[in-house]
Amino acid sequence: MAQNFDPAAATAAYLAQLPPEAHAKATAYTQGGHWLLLWGALVALLAAFLLVRSGVLVRLRRRFEGRRSRPLLVSYWIGGLYIVFDGVLSLPWSVYSDWWRPKQYGLTSQAFGGWLGESAISLAIGALIGGLFFAFLYALIRKAPRTWWLWSGGLTAAFIAIGMLLAPLYIEPIFNRYTPAPAGPVRDEVVAMARQVGVPSDKIFIYDGSKQSNAYTANVSGLFGSARVAMSDTMFKKGADIAEVRGVVGHEMGHYARHHSLWIAGVMSLLAILAFFLVDRLFAPACRLLGGEQIKGLSDPAGLPVLSAVLTVLLLLATPLTNSLIRIAESDADRYSLVNFNEPDGLAKALVKTVEYRAATPGRLEEIVFYDHPAVGRRIQRAMEWKAAHPKPLMTAAPDALVRAAFKDRIVVFPNMPVGMDGIALKADGSWFERHDFGWSRGRYAIAGGRLCLDEERGSRRCYAIGGAPGGWTLAQSGGAPVAVKLDRLPATASPG
Ligand SMILES: [Zn+2]
Repeated sequence: MAQNFDPAAATAAYLAQLPPEAHAKATAYTQGGHWLLLWGALVALLAAFLLVRSGVLVRLRRRFEGRRSRPLLVSYWIGGLYIVFDGVLSLPWSVYSDWWRPKQYGLTSQAFGGWLGESAISLAIGALIGGLFFAFLYALIRKAPRTWWLWSGGLTAAFIAIGMLLAPLYIEPIFNRYTPAPAGPVRDEVVAMARQVGVPSDKIFIYDGSKQSNAYTANVSGLFGSARVAMSDTMFKKGADIAEVRGVVGHEMGHYARHHSLWIAGVMSLLAILAFFLVDRLFAPACRLLGGEQIKGLSDPAGLPVLSAVLTVLLLLATPLTNSLIRIAESDADRYSLVNFNEPDGLAKALVKTVEYRAATPGRLEEIVFYDHPAVGRRIQRAMEWKAAHPKPLMTAAPDALVRAAFKDRIVVFPNMPVGMDGIALKADGSWFERHDFGWSRGRYAIAGGRLCLDEERGSRRCYAIGGAPGGWTLAQSGGAPVAVKLDRLPATASPG
């Protein structure tokens, strides 16, 4: 590592990979997007106003009520129908902001018909689940008219948790195909990373995200057993190399390992309590303002447009808070990736490719208010500062004979091995085995040309570049960062099974 490595200059060099026109276009897209928040809120308020004035929900509520009292069912139907009406009224706006505008900027290649079809499915799912949420919410309002807003936090938390748990199983497959990463260097690398930090290695997927968006992206979704890391195929269409995959997947594993979604869901539920408390106080004046004379108060599900209008305004005002909450988690995930996988350049290369939908160098205030990820310029700067402070272990090729002597009858132990794994056992007779979550892997190994290659009985092969550092050994997989390993003595009786 050059001693005069300058993080600021390296950051500028990464940003200069994009021509000034590309940065200008990204800024136009991003800053226009800030205004969309305001216009979107106004459209939502207009839709609420029209729905209240039309009196349609009041008439429907009277019809559903009939003779017997079935308040839970009535609020379920009204809630679901309200979501559908609102979606249909806002459709022209959604077409503009969610399809036409990204299309103008080359951020989606999806045909209008495909977009519309998926939006209709989303709306139907939203109505079914949202109806259920509102049915419970109105039940709380009826049963606990003074303290319903307090209980609503628990209700929100339950819905977020169940939604997160079920999304990868039942919702996401409706829109995209998720496949385990195919055999090859990417999967080998990702599996090795997962083992290194103790994340289940069978939870890494690639999905056809290019169907909806050209954005270079990956994400983590799900909760507990359903949690998984998913890389969009756009990553590979835009030429992601192993270092990038390591940087990006390291970031997503950070979200997973540090339970960011649980933290965010928890805080969102607390914010929901505050929001519903304010709804409780503001409902009556808002109802008068929108002209809802026939609405019988807060407990009347026909007043849902009024309740939503208040929430819309509160949500808009809370934007800097919610964005900052997510942004802090994103910074933490970057840090996790750097600490555990040390790929500052892989991360930077990937981040440059996200600039097209998130301008790289906003002002500090603009970032705090509008950015739910730290600005790319600052993220790359932090990665480069990390690089300056943490040079990769020096690799000096060691003679094969020396390595063979050092590695035979040893267990190669990686840092942060998951519970239940020991390492790769290398026997003097040229066979190897390792124990992991689902059983044993075994085969023949060879040390040659500065590389340790493991051939598995099933036919796959994985190789590590061997580095000799002062006082120890490092192994690096397919161009990844070298990891310092420990060599433990292999007991003479050790065998797989
Ligand atoms: Zn993230």
